[in-house]
Amino acid sequence: MQVEAFRFEVDADGVATATFDVPGRSMNTLTARAVADLGAIAKEVASNPAIKGLVITSGKSSGFCAGADLGELGGGGSAGEGAGGDPEARLRAAFNGAYALNGILRALETCGKPVAAAVNGLALGGGLEVVLACHYRLAANDNPRLQLGLPEAKVGLMPGGGGTQRLPRIMGAQAAAPFLLQGESMTPDQARSSGVIHELAPAAELTARAKAWVLANPSAKAPWDDPKFKLPGGTPNSQTGSQVFTFGSAMLAKQTWGNYPAQKHILSAVYEGLCVPMDAALRIESRYFVKTLSTPEAKGMIRSLFLSMQELGKGASRPGGYPTYDVRKAVVIGAGLMGAGIAYVQAKAGIETVLIDTTEEAAEKGKAYSRRIVEKDVSRGKMSKEKGEALLALIRPTADYSLAAGADIVVEAVFENPAIKAEVTAKVEAVIGAGAVMGSNTSTLPITGLAGASVRPENFIGIHFFSPVERMGLVEIIRGEKTSEETLAKTMDYVLKIRKTPIAVNDFRGFYTSRVFGTYPTEGLTMVAEGIAPAIVENVGRMSGMPMGPLEVSDSVGIDTMLKIGRESAKVTARSYEQDPVGDLVAWIAEAQGRVGRKAGKGFYDYNEQGKPSRLYPDIGRKVPVKVAECPPEMKAELVRRFLFRQCVEVARCFEEGVITDARDADVGSILAWGFAPYSGGVCSYMDLKIGIPTFVAECDRMAELYGERFRPNALLRDMAAKGETFYSRFGPKAAKAAA
Ligand code: NAD
Repeated sequence: MQVEAFRFEVDADGVATATFDVPGRSMNTLTARAVADLGAIAKEVASNPAIKGLVITSGKSSGFCAGADLGELGGGGSAGEGAGGDPEARLRAAFNGAYALNGILRALETCGKPVAAAVNGLALGGGLEVVLACHYRLAANDNPRLQLGLPEAKVGLMPGGGGTQRLPRIMGAQAAAPFLLQGESMTPDQARSSGVIHELAPAAELTARAKAWVLANPSAKAPWDDPKFKLPGGTPNSQTGSQVFTFGSAMLAKQTWGNYPAQKHILSAVYEGLCVPMDAALRIESRYFVKTLSTPEAKGMIRSLFLSMQELGKGASRPGGYPTYDVRKAVVIGAGLMGAGIAYVQAKAGIETVLIDTTEEAAEKGKAYSRRIVEKDVSRGKMSKEKGEALLALIRPTADYSLAAGADIVVEAVFENPAIKAEVTAKVEAVIGAGAVMGSNTSTLPITGLAGASVRPENFIGIHFFSPVERMGLVEIIRGEKTSEETLAKTMDYVLKIRKTPIAVNDFRGFYTSRVFGTYPTEGLTMVAEGIAPAIVENVGRMSGMPMGPLEVSDSVGIDTMLKIGRESAKVTARSYEQDPVGDLVAWIAEAQGRVGRKAGKGFYDYNEQGKPSRLYPDIGRKVPVKVAECPPEMKAELVRRFLFRQCVEVARCFEEGVITDARDADVGSILAWGFAPYSGGVCSYMDLKIGIPTFVAECDRMAELYGERFRPNALLRDMAAKGETFYSRFGPKAAKAAA
C-alpha cells in the first residue's frame, strides 16, 4: 500500500498505526491525497488478517488536523465542476466528491476491527470528523493549544464528514447545536464529559494507551451500530426531541433572519439524519453539503473569511522589495479612547510603548485602560500575573516628547483637529529618527493635508484603527499623495506584528470604510424622513444582515458628530445640510431635542443604565409623521436592497476613483470594519456572486429613478456589466498579478 499523507506501520502485536503527517506542511489538512490515503488504509485494515486494529495519530507537534483544505475546495466553487454541462452529471459528480470522505470513514467504522484516535492537539472540522468516526478517542490533557470543534458554519459551510450525524448521536441534538451551528470549540473537559473524547492523557502516552485499548477491545463497534442504541435526548419525533427542533428552528430564524443557508442546512441534516440509520444519514449529510457548497454565501464566505483573511494576514497587499520592518519601540500620542487601546495592543505584541498626552496624569489615565484589561484577563485565568505585569511594564505614560527618541513608528491619536495634529507631528518629528514612520489615526481628515505639517511627508501615513481597538481586527492604512512604498511596507509590518488585518486604501475624505459605511445610517434616516416607521427601518436593517439598525448606528457614532460632518460636507454644495430632510431630522434630534446618542443615554433610542437601547424615542413621530406602518415581504425585500445596494454602489465609486484597488481589501474591510452582511462574503462578493453585476446595474438604475441619483451606477459598473466582468476578475489577486 502506497500512502503519502500518512505513515503506516504494523507492530509486532498486529496493531497498525496511521500517523497523519502531510509532507512539507506544518499542520495537517484533509487534502484530496489525505482522503485517498485514508481510503487505502481503511481497505488494508479491513482486508489484512494480520492487522488486529488501527490507531490514528498525528506526526505534527502542532496538532492532529486543521480540517478540510479550503484552498482545494477552491473558494467553494468546485462542487461538481469538471463534469461538463449536464446538470445531472454535475450533481452526481458533486455528490460523489462530497460523499468520498463519508464513505471512507463509514468503511473504517464498520471494518469489524477496533479503531482508536490519539489526538495530540488541535482537531478541527474534517480533522475532528475523522476522530469521531473512531471507536475510541483519546486526547492530550497537557497541551494548552488543544482545540476540538467543527467551525465550518463560520465560513458558510457545513460539516461534511459525518459531523452532523455523529456529534448529535454522541451528545444529543440540543447539546450539539452550538458546536454545529455556531462552530464553537469545546474544551477538553467538555469533550470528555460529553463523550466526544473517552480518555484524556499526557500527549506522550496517547499512542501506547490507544494501542492497549485496541488490543483489549477486539470486537469494538460504534454505539449507533448496536440495534439497542438510544439517541441521547430522544429522536426528532419524540416529545422532547421535537421540541429541540421546533425551538431550534425559531431561534435560528431569529438569529440569522434566514440569511445563512449553511445553518439552515445543518439543522435539516441533523433532523432528517437522526430519523434514519447511519448509512442513510451520511448520504443525507452529503446532499446538504453539496447544496451548501454551491451557494453564493459559501463561496463568498470561504473566499473572504478564510482565504483572503489568511492572505491579508500574511501581508498580501504589502509592497515587495523591502526587508521586514521589526517595530520594537512605538509612540502613541493622545491617551484617549483610541490611544489607550492602541497602546494596549502594541504592548500585547511585545512592543515598547511610549504613551504621550498633554500631562503625565492624562497619559496615566490612558495606561489605566490596559491595566483594567490585564486585571480582568488575569482574574479569569486568561493571562498569567507575570505576563500581565510584563505587558504593563512596556507602556511608559508621559508628557515628555524626548522619550520618543529611537522609536520605529508613531501613531498620533489626539483630538480630530488639524492644528493640534500639526503641532504634535512637529514636536515628535523633532525627536524621532529619519526612518521612523509617522502615522495618524484620524478618521476623517485627508492624510495628504495632515502630511503638510510633516518634515518628511514620504514617511507620513494614515493608520486607521477601529473602536474598541483590542477587539476590532482591521486596520485601514491610508496612503497620502507623498507616502512612499517603503513607508507603506513598514506600516503593514507594524500592523501584522500587532496581529491585525491590514487593508491599503488611498486618500479620500472618509477613506474607504467611513465613506461607504456612512451611507447605511443615512439611507435609514432617509427612510424615516420618508415616513416609514422607525421600527420597520431598524428591523429591516438588521434583517439585511447588518449588525445594528441604522438609527442605533447613528446613536453609536454620535448624532452631534453626524451633524458636524453633514454640515461640513454641505459647505461644498449650494444647499445647507438642514435643507436636506435627513439633515433636518439629524439637527432636530441633536439640537432641538438635545439627544446626541448613546454617550448621552438618549438619541433615536432611550438607553438603560447598562447602555443598552430600551425603546425608540416615541417623539420621532412628532417630527416625521409615520405614513408606512406595515412591511409586507416585498417591501422588506426592497428596503434590504436599498440598504445593501446603496453601500455597494458607493464601493464601485471607490474603485473607480482609486480609493480602493483590491477586491479582497474591499470585502474583508467591509465585514471587519462595519459588519457588512457577513453571509455575503463582503461588498464585492455580494455584487459578484449574490446579485450578479448586470442585475445589480439594472436594479440600481431602477432605484435611482425611484429614490434618487445616489443609486445611479457609475461608468465602471456599466463597463463591467457589458464585458461580463466581476470585481474579482477585474480587481482580484489574479488581475493584479496579470497587470504586474
Ligand atoms: P479622545 O478625545 O478620547 O482622546 C484624545 C486624546 O488626545 C485625549 O486624551 C487628549 O488629552 C489628547 N490630546 C489632545 N491634545 C493633545 C496634545 N496636544 N498632545 C497630546 N495629547 C493630546 O479621542 P479619540 O476618540 O481617542 O480619537 C482620537 C483620534 O482617533 C481622532 O483623530 C479620531 O478621529 C480618531 N478615531 C476615533 C475613533 C473612535 O471611534 N473614537 C475611531 C477611529 C479613529
